Amino acid sequence: MKICIDPGHGGSDPGTTAAGIKEKDITLDMSLYMKERMEKLGFEVIMTRTSDTTLRWHERAEFVKKSGARLCISNHINAGGGQGAETIYSIHSDGRLAQLILDELGKAGMKKRRAFSKKSSLYPGRDYYYMHRKTGPVETVIVEYGFIDREEDRKKLIDTAFRNKLAEGVIKAVCTYLEIEYKNPDCNSCDNSNTVKIINAEIPPFLKEGKTCIQLRTLVEALGGKIDWYDKTQTIVCIINDKKLIMQIGNPQIKIINLQKNQR
Ligand SMILES: [Zn+2]
Repeated sequence: MKICIDPGHGGSDPGTTAAGIKEKDITLDMSLYMKERMEKLGFEVIMTRTSDTTLRWHERAEFVKKSGARLCISNHINAGGGQGAETIYSIHSDGRLAQLILDELGKAGMKKRRAFSKKSSLYPGRDYYYMHRKTGPVETVIVEYGFIDREEDRKKLIDTAFRNKLAEGVIKAVCTYLEIEYKNPDCNSCDNSNTVKIINAEIPPFLKEGKTCIQLRTLVEALGGKIDWYDKTQTIVCIINDKKLIMQIGNPQIKIINLQKNQR
């Protein structure tokens, strides 16, 4: 499952600022944390930027649109005198993910403001925000964690531990939304072997004459094995746990060899 994380602003665009704190730095820090954590949970994560670089708005939107991600989390910090977290979803979405994120941010200790969507007055029937209007099929939620110009919010936002709690809230909401198991970062009883991992099959399983067919590579790699192809002899060699399987295109016989520990 591919997820796009968009650290708002960057480079020559600092975003909102107050008391020497810049939105672009906070959003990057939170996004890098999210990336690492989501990868641990088995997601494939791509980011619009991973350092303090300038991205023009259409470049950012185009990147998300072409990313092939299931969804995009666009991280931002608000300004303008309010207080608390807001999430913004597309007018073409049901807003469920945005509401889940807002609820988790509330549980993490941020005041909840609202989850909302906004129509464009310039382009009828379209979104106001370009991150919704120009990101194509990628379901994007803009997350405004708090107000940089509100001292109470700012204190929380400059506290790394608190920020990480907020990031965990977003990850939890994404997991709930996609029905993927969430695991706490400091869960001692967590068995890493149970970590959810998703492999994308090049060829999805299909039925042929009432039998299930699945691409061998998908199956072998899902089982933690290794697969090699030998073009000259049209032979496939798979190693899964303590077994080596040798098969040839068109030959119904599959040779299975038990491997010794040192042969694996
Ligand atoms: Zn922003």
